[in-house]
Amino acid sequence: MQKQTPYFGSVKFFKHVIYLSLALLGFVVFSKLYSYSKEHFAERTFAAIPSANLLSDGETSEQTFTAPNYQSKYPELYSSIPKAFRQEKEKVAYLTFDDGPSIRTLEILELLKAFNIKATFFVVTEGTDLSILKRIVQEGHSIGIHCHSHEYKKLYASTENFLEDLHTAYNKIYQATSIKPRFIRFPGGSINAYNSINYQEIISEVLRRGFLYYDWNVSTGDAASNPSLEQIMQNIKASVNGQDKLIILAHDSEHKTQTVAALPKIIEFLTREGYTFDRLEPTVKPIIFAYP
Ligand SMILES: [Zn+2]
Repeated sequence: MQKQTPYFGSVKFFKHVIYLSLALLGFVVFSKLYSYSKEHFAERTFAAIPSANLLSDGETSEQTFTAPNYQSKYPELYSSIPKAFRQEKEKVAYLTFDDGPSIRTLEILELLKAFNIKATFFVVTEGTDLSILKRIVQEGHSIGIHCHSHEYKKLYASTENFLEDLHTAYNKIYQATSIKPRFIRFPGGSINAYNSINYQEIISEVLRRGFLYYDWNVSTGDAASNPSLEQIMQNIKASVNGQDKLIILAHDSEHKTQTVAALPKIIEFLTREGYTFDRLEPTVKPIIFAYP
């Protein structure tokens, strides 16, 4: 009779031990991987991105990201930023007029026609004669949004306030011209004493909605007062400073008589300096103030 080998300690026994261990190891690895992926990936949907706010002890807060309410307001208040900016002439000047339209706008339109040049008007829609907007467009100039109410304190009190005002101005310009405005000039410039706390939020919301904004690199200095023609020319000459591209800030509100008086001199001076004039359009790369 053949001798029976005991099972314990046999080759078969050790084979079974090895198979069992491999099966157990496989199960442990699988269950670890499963719980890790569940924890790290399953809850990372778009709606539940953990907030980037760090708590004082360095841990990430459990708070999830929720879009601010103002983002869902005014669904028609959207534009589109062009895919590319155009190649501009080597020396180009963009005359821009804020705070109109007013009786001064009509005088400026006559001068622009006489010199055969185009310009840009950033208009205020509260308490102004919006019938003038149609003439601005008919004569080939551009219109951008300045604001509805020119009350800086109220305008910049919150992003909600700013958007509400922008929405009103946008609609009024559209009603008056049948053209949807595509760019803005922030009252006081994109960064000013009234929005030092929230300018980044306001600017990013304006850009998120596809609107461009233009600041300036040359100023007539006529914002606060009605400086003399000589003073305006000095301001212009001092700020042109050999730059190739000029976005010139001027105002066409009712009291700016000296700005109108200086306009022919400004045009003649810049023409002598080799500049050609053009109007702003969304394909013109903006000049914007640097963040402090
Ligand atoms: Zn203004």
